[in-house]
Amino acid sequence: VCWSEKGGWHRPRVSPYGPIALDPSAAVLHYAQEIFEGMKAYRHADGSVWTFRPYENAARMQRSAARLALPELPSEIFIESLKQLIAVDADWVPSAPETSLYLRPFMFAKEAFLGVRPAKKVAYYVIASPAGAYFHGGVQPVSIWLSTKYARAGKGGTGAAKTGGNYASSLLPQAEAAEHGCQQVLFLDEGTYLEELGGMNVVLVYRDGTLVTPESDSILEGITRDSVLQLARDRGHAVESRRVTIDEWREGAASGDIVGAFACGTAAVITPIGRLLAEDFEIVHAGDAASELALSLREELTGIQYGRVEDRHGWLTRLDA
Ligand code: PMP
Repeated sequence: VCWSEKGGWHRPRVSPYGPIALDPSAAVLHYAQEIFEGMKAYRHADGSVWTFRPYENAARMQRSAARLALPELPSEIFIESLKQLIAVDADWVPSAPETSLYLRPFMFAKEAFLGVRPAKKVAYYVIASPAGAYFHGGVQPVSIWLSTKYARAGKGGTGAAKTGGNYASSLLPQAEAAEHGCQQVLFLDEGTYLEELGGMNVVLVYRDGTLVTPESDSILEGITRDSVLQLARDRGHAVESRRVTIDEWREGAASGDIVGAFACGTAAVITPIGRLLAEDFEIVHAGDAASELALSLREELTGIQYGRVEDRHGWLTRLDA
């Protein structure tokens, strides 16, 4: 779908996958005026195809658009774009356990000019690709590296938007994490407060069953996190969203008040955090109780997504009808 200042949203169409022609001075290539979403389509046992909380993705894309000075894409166009894509060939959506069709809606500034101002011509696309199970042979705990040298986003920056620039700034710290033998990087706010991983949110598990997740205006508000915390509340867990310092985690792990932690996001759903490595300390969570909780919440959430568990919150939207 295209957008122009004069014409609004127009020209919706589905076309075969292939290269996009862009003017070399298209604003997105120079000033990174772009946003995206990541979601999945799930095949249920009866063959029908569903997606999970798409109105939340649509709303988040609208918040990202506002921050990146891009036009607002109405939720109806967003949802319709997913349906149209599935309508081309619903057989795309795989049916093996834990597989899905990954959906990537994105919007970028395609107007050709070299001044720094919001573009007056924008394009919105959705691409899709079948995705295999994230884990093979059971969910594996992740190890994370604490980045103290680099921040992902700053106060008043674009941290809460799903925009490429945030990911560009996370590539080097992510490589640093890999050099230290870790799979993910953890970012802090002001060198003190927990934010999130490169592509997942974080939740700490306290001994009394309380779940605590970092509150910050510079992290991505994960839809998986929101859903997992809702399921935990339904089970009677206390859930807190507040500022959490890295010292609270370190001291809580040492005293036994914090029994574990997990990470959550659309791709892996939920995965226990086995180890946090920093320059000058390390936290190891053997945390059987916390891992069990993470895995049972994961089972419930994937159960809802794949239609095995009742969708009591009305989170699913059908895409193939
Ligand atoms: N934080 C970041 C930086 C992410 O890229 C993602 C993945 N979209 C998340 C958190 C988790 O968000 P969600 O649960 O909506 O996938």
